[in-house]
Amino acid sequence: MKIAVLPGDGIGPEIVAEAVKVLKALELPFEMETAAVGGSAFDAHGHPLPEATLALAKAADAVLFGAVGDWKYDKLERQFRPEQAILGLRKQLGLFANFRPAICYEQLTHASSLKPELVAGLDILIIRELTGDIYFGQPRGRRTAIDGHFPGSEEAFDTMRYSRPEIERIAHVAFQAARKRNRKLTSVDKANVLETFQFWKDVVTEVHAQYPDVQLEHLYVDNAAMQLVRAPKAFDVVVTGNLFGDILSDEAALLTGSIGMLPSACLDKNGKGLYEPSHGSAPDIAGKGVANPLATILSAAMMLRYTLNQPEAADRIESAVKAVLGAGLRTGDIWSEGTTKVGTRAMGDAVVAAITGKTTITKT
Ligand code: NAD
Repeated sequence: MKIAVLPGDGIGPEIVAEAVKVLKALELPFEMETAAVGGSAFDAHGHPLPEATLALAKAADAVLFGAVGDWKYDKLERQFRPEQAILGLRKQLGLFANFRPAICYEQLTHASSLKPELVAGLDILIIRELTGDIYFGQPRGRRTAIDGHFPGSEEAFDTMRYSRPEIERIAHVAFQAARKRNRKLTSVDKANVLETFQFWKDVVTEVHAQYPDVQLEHLYVDNAAMQLVRAPKAFDVVVTGNLFGDILSDEAALLTGSIGMLPSACLDKNGKGLYEPSHGSAPDIAGKGVANPLATILSAAMMLRYTLNQPEAADRIESAVKAVLGAGLRTGDIWSEGTTKVGTRAMGDAVVAAITGKTTITKT
């Protein structure tokens, strides 16, 4: 199994180093190779996604990605900006399914803006289609209106569209993910108003015939947004289009209250994936050794579960993270009165210790 390790910018190298340490502690036959990406790749090679990095990502079974971006690159032409690396990788690797779990650990319920009893033990998975919908539909642009409420005035427009194969493949991914969890899938649409999402609903319902062991429900997106804050634990796996998924996955992430805890994955049609924390490169805390590495460590666990077919190893990492939180260790972003503040490396060491039982937990 070959893993391409792309640390990137800002806190990327610090948090990825901890995830690599945790992967090594599992003593599985991984080969890991590191390459430059983002702003640091632009500085070293003149491009945020150098050809060698792309070739490595293509050849690997999975990609472990840190984060890219720094304000110092904001004046670069768009094609050279660090963020283009992640868009390029998604496109070049055909990553159309975005997995965003929202997990609220018992010990961190106070960080949520909802009442503790609503979020304690929350564990939901939002699957967002990533390469279609109104974000990519053509035609789009600006023009002079020929009809509508104000003919002759300037207007802007986008096109919402989904083809049958696009919906079928994300539906299969979602049903299969539901099978690895509690066999419950909620498909979110706006079928009451939008033709595109009536089609979405019809196709998801057809695909469901191949997964009779999974319970399927349909919700309108406005209702789904309400239910996510009213009773989030009623959900298990949620699948939706690019636009609705963009909004709902951020809403679900907020339920857990701590961006430093949230992993994510983008998968292709064969289950190959790019795994990264949901947060960015946090230039404000880069190099200080205070970043929370747990989102990246949990991304590595997702990689083991969804691409490398090592669910027991994924369980070991997730249990170790729970044990470390249970022992009261916290990085600054999740710290609260009565817990022990630790830095990035000490948190990684603690997870390794919980996995191997070989070293003692270090507190700083
Ligand atoms: P950000 O997620 O980097 O940071 C937002 C806030 O959360 C900051 O205060 C930061 O210190 C904190 N934070 C983030 N991750 C943390 C962690 N692991 N531990 C502790 N605190 C953490 O978002 P931003 O500040 O809007 O963006 C910074 C840069 O990151 C920008 O250049 C942006 O383009 C880039 N970005 C990259 C990705 C990616 O690589 N996929 C995603 C989002 C943003």
